[in-house]
Amino acid sequence: MLDKLLREVVLIVVGKSAEEIATILNSKKYENEFNIAKKLDLTINQTRNILYKISNVGLVTSIRKKDKKKGWYTYFWKFDVLKCLEFLKGRIVRELEDIEQKIHERRTSVFYYCKRCNIEVNEEEALSLNFSCPECGDIFQIKEGASLVKELEKTKAKLNEKLKIVNEEMEKEITRLNKLKEKELRKIEKEKKEKRLLAAEKRRIARAKSGKTSAKKKSAKKVVKKKTTKKKAATKKKVSKKKVAKKKTWALRKK
Ligand SMILES: [Zn+2]
Repeated sequence: MLDKLLREVVLIVVGKSAEEIATILNSKKYENEFNIAKKLDLTINQTRNILYKISNVGLVTSIRKKDKKKGWYTYFWKFDVLKCLEFLKGRIVRELEDIEQKIHERRTSVFYYCKRCNIEVNEEEALSLNFSCPECGDIFQIKEGASLVKELEKTKAKLNEKLKIVNEEMEKEITRLNKLKEKELRKIEKEKKEKRLLAAEKRRIARAKSGKTSAKKKSAKKVVKKKTTKKKAATKKKVSKKKVAKKKTWALRKK
């Protein structure tokens, strides 16, 4: 259904010959302009002309990518589906207003016509023309409004049906866009959470490291202390040896 409506949009904006582009632009992802040209069997310039016409009324969105080797930009396009539907809705609403107006006129005033020339005028115009046809001079006849009103009512019903379909498609598109937004928000939230967790993990590792280094420093101090005690012990031993030696000498002297 949506595809049919989008085809109608292209038909109104560009014309019958461009209708095929509707199916290509009715895409979730952006389409490369060269691929569009290929699919339509048109030159890139013909394709761009169509795209610009649709773009001028704001019914497509595009992104561009730079070719790193050649240095030029390639454009990618897709429909702004909601805008397309709003565009159609606007037209239908205006048509309905127009028909409503006509039905009202037919019901409240008399119309005159010339059978031969198929010219139709309202009461005011008929009066100014003295109730005779400006083409052939025949006297105007009163036109029965009932059959015309019936026709207008039929058209009105069809338009209302179409308006309902467009509204339904708009609802669908809005729901789809909202879901996309929610998904995007969830993704951002998830990324934020992951960043927070990562930062917390980094802090934890940093704390653990600083804890280890201070422990190392402490143990280093202990080692130093041990060394000094060893040295002290060694000197003590030496001292005691000396003392022993002295004692020995004393002993020798005594002997
Ligand atoms: Zn006439």
